[in-house]
Amino acid sequence: MTAIDDLPPLREVIARHDLRAKKQLGQNFLLDLNLTARIARAAGDLTQCDVLEIGPGPGGLTRGLLAEGARHVLAIEKDARAIPALEEIAAAYPGRLTIIHGDALQVDPLAHLTSPIRVAANLPYNIGTELLIRWLTPPDWPPFWQSLTLMFQKEVAQRIVAKPGGKAYGRLALLAQWRCEVQIVLTLPPQAFVPAPKVESAVVQLTALPEPRFPADAKILSELTASAFNQRRKMLRASLRGVHPEIESLLTQSGIPPTARAEEIGLEAFCTLARNLEAARRQG
Ligand code: SAM
Repeated sequence: MTAIDDLPPLREVIARHDLRAKKQLGQNFLLDLNLTARIARAAGDLTQCDVLEIGPGPGGLTRGLLAEGARHVLAIEKDARAIPALEEIAAAYPGRLTIIHGDALQVDPLAHLTSPIRVAANLPYNIGTELLIRWLTPPDWPPFWQSLTLMFQKEVAQRIVAKPGGKAYGRLALLAQWRCEVQIVLTLPPQAFVPAPKVESAVVQLTALPEPRFPADAKILSELTASAFNQRRKMLRASLRGVHPEIESLLTQSGIPPTARAEEIGLEAFCTLARNLEAARRQG
């Protein structure tokens, strides 16, 4: 193991700044800097990019991103105790790390970032899915980011990359795969973190496609998938009854058996149904 920088080990940083993990902030820290550098490498070539990091904590991943050559890192952290530790990293990488003390759900990062932008984070579990959905559903596509490299509980990561036919498949898979290349790039055991969580974690890489894989109106697709998967055990002719009076013939016209269930239907068919529904509404 070689040191990735000249800064002190993370255990020492945590002890010196009294950064005992708080459960309500979703704090599970990565202390192995070789591992954080590996996650940073999974994010792609950072040398020409600004990187948005949510929840840097004591700065393990932040140091990985900077050591891997990120042009500039914008780190948003809610816990005031972590800010002095992060300032030490900023001093070691002059002009390359901006720290914002705030809530990532409230702060608009764009004022502090220059394209091209990548996002990399070991997300607090309590806001991870909400942030991902925001990043996947901007008003315009392509989004402000080129890629998202995100650590989740493994069960959430599996829902992002899931294919039709299983319990993990649902709205999150459709939303992500419609406009992104998605891949699990790393799986980590609980012991990789301090404190160790109860479950395994995984890093997902989402790369924004220039255009959606299949044409569809984002709002209609979102409405359809919400209705279909909210009652996922029902046949589609029943779960989608509320979206259009002629839903049964719209399903047939889209090549979907009205007796099928949501989890059997792939992305392309959902997009075809969204287009047919849009056309039917325009006529009706
Ligand atoms: N990146 C560090 C690492 O990998 O060791 C810490 C990851 S820890 C899972 C999540 C971090 O997100 C914590 O530092 C926590 O304080 C921070 N956090 C929690 N809620 C937040 C919020 N709403 N906005 C910004 N940061 C938040």
